[in-house]
Amino acid sequence: MLSYRHSFHAGNPADIIKHLVLAHVLEYMTRKEAGYDYIDTHSGAGLFELNSADAQKTQEYQQGIAKLWEYQGESSALVDYVNLIKSFNNESLAFYPGSPKIAERYLRRQDKGWFFELHPKDLQLLEQNMQGKKSLRVRGEDGFKGLLGLVPPASRRACILMDPPYEIKTDYQQAALMINKAYKRFSSGTYMIWYPVVDRQRIDLLEQTLIDSGMKNIQLFELATEQDTQLHGMTASGMIVINPPWTLKKAMDEVLPELVELLSQDSGFFRIQQLVDE
Ligand code: SAM
Repeated sequence: MLSYRHSFHAGNPADIIKHLVLAHVLEYMTRKEAGYDYIDTHSGAGLFELNSADAQKTQEYQQGIAKLWEYQGESSALVDYVNLIKSFNNESLAFYPGSPKIAERYLRRQDKGWFFELHPKDLQLLEQNMQGKKSLRVRGEDGFKGLLGLVPPASRRACILMDPPYEIKTDYQQAALMINKAYKRFSSGTYMIWYPVVDRQRIDLLEQTLIDSGMKNIQLFELATEQDTQLHGMTASGMIVINPPWTLKKAMDEVLPELVELLSQDSGFFRIQQLVDE
């Protein structure tokens, strides 16, 4: 039974680090003329209304995108990201794009997008939000398995976002296992796994599983708005990227310290780590 709805969380600090990394990777893919595939294993609805009852109930976006809306700083990565979100809005902040709508911006005529979603309501919304382009394919199927059916892609160039809800605790090991299976078929793809820090031990185990897997060139980027605690929900989140663009670490070196200052009280921190060398 699926109960997770991303509409409660859209635009929160976790979306910010996830979508900053995603946009960087996608932009990098477009630097070559050759077509590529984008595979979104857990897509969500694609676009979120921040005035909806769900978003208003938690108001998580107030701790995330709302704090960046008037950003006037120096970081070009942050300026580009805020401008991207602004392009889905008029004057004021009313919509937040999910990973599919962000990806759509970077998918050209020669590229293909694959979007998996299992929740019936979010699938319907996703279909509505993504209709129009023939190169964008929405599938109401399990994204873990769907990924394996798509690699290696004919284009031989692909980036993959795996962003499960982690409602089921086995999602942590399942994510690592499925990425590793896909990598064995297609080792040159760029794989991004999003993770929440609710219980640090789970993340330590996820990292160790990936380190022990034999996959090369793995980087980790984490944004914490609070110190670790097991007393209440998510305190941090991150992206683990396998075969990242060589430009990603430098961009995150610049952006993460500033994001901690902008989004956390006193106790936030960031992590940037090369988990496995090239
Ligand atoms: N990637 C989205 C974004 O950045 O906007 C958010 C995705 S949300 C964290 C996770 C989504 O995965 C939920 O909409 C949930 O219904 C969906 N889901 C859960 N299990 C799934 C599965 N096995 N295959 C595909 N989608 C799944």
